[in-house]
Amino acid sequence: MATHLRSAGRKCTVIGGSGFLGQHMVEQLLGKGYSVNVFDIQRGFENEKVQFFLGDLCSKEALLPALQGVSVAFHCASPAPSSDNIELFYKVNFMGTKTVIEACKEAGVSKLVLTSSASVVFEGTDIKNGTEDLPYAKKPIDYYTETKILQEKEVLRANDPDNNFFTTAIRPHGIFGPRDPQLVPILIQAAKSGKMKFMIGDGKNLVDFTYVENVVHGHILAAEHLQKDSPLCGKAYHITNDEPVPFWAFMSRILTGLNYDAPKYQIPYWLAYYLALILSLVLLLLRPLVTIKPTFTPMRVALAGTFHYYSCERAKRDMGYKPVVSLDEAIKRTLQSYPHLCRAKA
Ligand code: NAD
Repeated sequence: MATHLRSAGRKCTVIGGSGFLGQHMVEQLLGKGYSVNVFDIQRGFENEKVQFFLGDLCSKEALLPALQGVSVAFHCASPAPSSDNIELFYKVNFMGTKTVIEACKEAGVSKLVLTSSASVVFEGTDIKNGTEDLPYAKKPIDYYTETKILQEKEVLRANDPDNNFFTTAIRPHGIFGPRDPQLVPILIQAAKSGKMKFMIGDGKNLVDFTYVENVVHGHILAAEHLQKDSPLCGKAYHITNDEPVPFWAFMSRILTGLNYDAPKYQIPYWLAYYLALILSLVLLLLRPLVTIKPTFTPMRVALAGTFHYYSCERAKRDMGYKPVVSLDEAIKRTLQSYPHLCRAKA
């Protein structure tokens, strides 16, 4: 109730509101009584309560109409990591975010909440209960993450209380839930093509998978607590399910929940890592002749075989964050939302 009253009459814009996270964000914001604009390069859904603005966030002229009369901008737009397009990541995530900041200031938007990523501190080695004080990765796992670092730094640096402009960044990790076009569909596709027989490592490595509604809840709390002299100003926050889970146990639960077999065999982590490294080197040498994008890369091996889970104590302390959906319930809801991916029982 208190949250609803605080948000009454508030107008916000979700930049990237047609995407997976963005659509869930829009739904929760509408449910809390916000008036919502969506700015995106594509129109992802129909909703008469939402005002859509189609455009590229790299254009200030395109952004400005979507930000008029708005007090909060949520920026969760990004090219998909799988696009693997270095120029596009730099242009949208870094240069485009600078444009978003300029446009917010020019339109008089007072709060900007960025969706960053917990991966900004991950270098492919174990992180256990990592806090926001960990330094940014010197060698980020990929170019996409490199531009997420640049983007986050830019947004946090833009916090400017003297000019009534407040910024914060949310760092989610492993977002999943209904309508996600990535995690579950890609996993099932891999299982169908027989690629999910091996687990990398001993299967004990804990990671965070975060239900999309908890991620949205963290963003909205951040917007509501972001104000002059609040600890959120210019700071980043992990938002997780606060229930780290063994990577392969989570994957197995999704697979078996949709009637596919869980991986049966183990391959030692170091062996998988060096095989992936050798494959990358071979493909690099062959590049003048043929370009192949491997799916079995050292980065993917590291993501599947190392510990990477994060503390969300700072979000609990500064914005009263607590996950609203448990991991168990989140997995059930996610499985139920993909009936078309469920394999018929023999
Ligand atoms: P998504 O691809 O589903 O949505 C991104 C949206 O951004 C899309 O609707 C796309 O059209 C829009 N967009 C892209 N380029 C744009 C441009 N130039 N101008 C305007 N709109 C543009 O991605 P998602 O999974 O919902 O991720 C949302 C955010 O969360 C991203 O910033 C991502 O880095 C971050 N994040 C995601 C995960 C995850 O597991 N999905 C984890 C950590 C962080």
